[in-house]
Amino acid sequence: MLKFGRCLSAVTLVLAALSGCADMPLGNTSSYAPAGKNLPPSAPGGTREWSGEGGASGHPAMTADAIRAAAADFPNCIARYGHDAARRGVSQQAYASLTRDLTPDLRIMDLIDAQPEFTKAFWEYLDTLVSEARISRGREMLAQHKQVFDAAERSYGVDRYTIAAIWGVESNYGTQGGERPVLRSTATLACVGRRQPFFKEEFLSTVEILNRGDVKPDRMIGSWAGAFGPTQFMPTTFKRFAVDFDGDGHRDTVDSIADVVASTANLLKANGWVPGQTWGYEVAVPQRFDYLLADRAKQLTINEWSRLGLRRADGQPFAHGSDRAFLLVPAGARGPAFLILPNFRAVMKYNPSEAYALAITHLADRMRGGGPFVQAWPRDERVLTRDERLELQQHLARRGLDVGEADGRLGPASRSAIMKFQVASGLPPDGFASASLLDRLRTQ
Ligand code: CA
Repeated sequence: MLKFGRCLSAVTLVLAALSGCADMPLGNTSSYAPAGKNLPPSAPGGTREWSGEGGASGHPAMTADAIRAAAADFPNCIARYGHDAARRGVSQQAYASLTRDLTPDLRIMDLIDAQPEFTKAFWEYLDTLVSEARISRGREMLAQHKQVFDAAERSYGVDRYTIAAIWGVESNYGTQGGERPVLRSTATLACVGRRQPFFKEEFLSTVEILNRGDVKPDRMIGSWAGAFGPTQFMPTTFKRFAVDFDGDGHRDTVDSIADVVASTANLLKANGWVPGQTWGYEVAVPQRFDYLLADRAKQLTINEWSRLGLRRADGQPFAHGSDRAFLLVPAGARGPAFLILPNFRAVMKYNPSEAYALAITHLADRMRGGGPFVQAWPRDERVLTRDERLELQQHLARRGLDVGEADGRLGPASRSAIMKFQVASGLPPDGFASASLLDRLRTQ
């Protein structure tokens, strides 16, 4: 439902290679400091200039000439959208006033097609996102806003620690939510480049939000893709899920903590959050386990997993044996395994990346007082570069295995192709794209 929209928020770009996002990478390239090391710097308000070059996607709307032509037509494009705004109840005068001084921020054209060559390992994302500082700051925020969290938990049934974790990861508790005016960014993307139909809706939603006065124009600042506020709502997400929880007549997911917390809870509830249930369990997998069962599509009950020999890694018993779960093995047979329940999937609808969802749910557990994962990550594994991932996919495709689109991103189709190759080679089919697997594909 929100898949594409949630591909656009704070931590997304750095998760691109680990994500099932349909059109990656798209994310906040300007505001998320810890992850932003290999990203191009940007000045406040996006004043850094466009490179003048076409985008790496090779999309016809992303050539330098097409970008220049669309930029020249920008005033006409904005005028055309005025008719759509009128149909949404925004008066001609209000629309003219909101859009009068708009100019395209063409720097965004460099960012929309940026392809990070090097990516971090799954565990490196978790190390970055689930830091001691973020855990302790989260606890402070939970204490400071206890009444708001109490009330939101009562109203929506969504775990407060998960909300706090999203707040912490998306914007470092509201301190890093992006620096570009959302109206300008979405107007640019609605008129220039390869995602115009999608961003037309985001732009018009932004106009509606500003016209209603929910958020003030100078406070609606966000990522280059338009995600804004402490929990990085896209404008369309705001329209559907933002709530006025403090009762002042405005849905303000930027400056009202009550509205931020409740709106995020409301979104998770709509995404299928099950009150009172955990997100899943870290589990120990027995020797000679059939890793072909580690598949999002293979849902078994906790009791069935138990019969297959899975145990909680911390030695505690499972609760609710009839709950249905799938097995996630993000770093292969040498790393930790997890049984995944519906609440993890609700977080994945917020941002469709397993690394993101595991960071959120684990950060929540840590704030609650839980310990680190019991099992170690295979930290000696080298992460494949984008070119190597592409090569891996090409080798698999040459063997007749379906990898989906060979694009350097290892989604479920690539994982399944890796498993088939592993079975054929007599290896444990854990679907993990290791450097040794690539070596084998090169030589076998
Ligand atoms: Ca309010």
